Amino acid sequence: MEIILTGTGSPIPDPNRAGPSTLVKAGGSHILVDAGRGVVMRLAGAESGPPFLAAILITHLHSDHVCALNDVITTHWIQSQESATLKIFGPVGTEEFVQRQMHALEPDISYRVEHHDFLTNGPQYEVSDLEPGDSFTVNDVQITTAATEHSPVKPTIGFRLEHEGSVAALVGDTLPCDGVDELARNADAYVQTVLRRDILEPIPMEGVQDILEYHSGVAQAAETASRVGSKRLVLTHMVPAPQPDDYPDWIARAAAFFDGEIVIGDDLTTISL
Ligand SMILES: [Zn+2]
Ligand SMILES: [Zn+2]
Repeated sequence: MEIILTGTGSPIPDPNRAGPSTLVKAGGSHILVDAGRGVVMRLAGAESGPPFLAAILITHLHSDHVCALNDVITTHWIQSQESATLKIFGPVGTEEFVQRQMHALEPDISYRVEHHDFLTNGPQYEVSDLEPGDSFTVNDVQITTAATEHSPVKPTIGFRLEHEGSVAALVGDTLPCDGVDELARNADAYVQTVLRRDILEPIPMEGVQDILEYHSGVAQAAETASRVGSKRLVLTHMVPAPQPDDYPDWIARAAAFFDGEIVIGDDLTTISL
């Protein structure tokens, strides 16, 4: 299994970090978790792309995690010449979100269907709204879900992917909680969106203080990884975005609580399990 950080950014625009998304390659199956800003470009960089996706898994409907889903849908449709169905899984509300996206795309769809003989239908997709605890398979990848804690954003879910003995947990934006513990237990890689409480707590701005309420800090993510026996902790969606010179400091702050491997990196950093 390979985990490719296709977007390590956050809502804050960054010239070098795409918005949140992570690609898992498990055997021949490419599974995308979230679809933040620039995801289709980063998929190209990861030797993948919308037509290769066996499924998209959505953790929650915050815009930074889904703002490029329409690009994935449209590009999948055009590049697969309408022959393939895009499978999308997410928390309750995802189906309605996708339907609204499709409504916004109606002019584009009608232009293209009218112009191209090879297109006779709009995008083919199948959306499954999931409840925490649901499990399902995508090809030979076993996927389980659990509730995460990102209140007041509800519902939010995380995912545990198992393939040929390798386990990856990708949990999105969340505080430490039972659901994350369950998903990340003994995982080969636990991918967590994180922020730096030590940097953000002293900033006297309401917007900054608000985001502290519903995200894991680096230390909290490391404590979770340690508590549940994850082998690797992978940091992403870092706030504030670090420069490469800052990576050792981020790693040291996690290493104070976790003995396993800690990964922090740029977009397209790849973790092989
Ligand atoms: Zn969020
Ligand atoms: Zn986010």
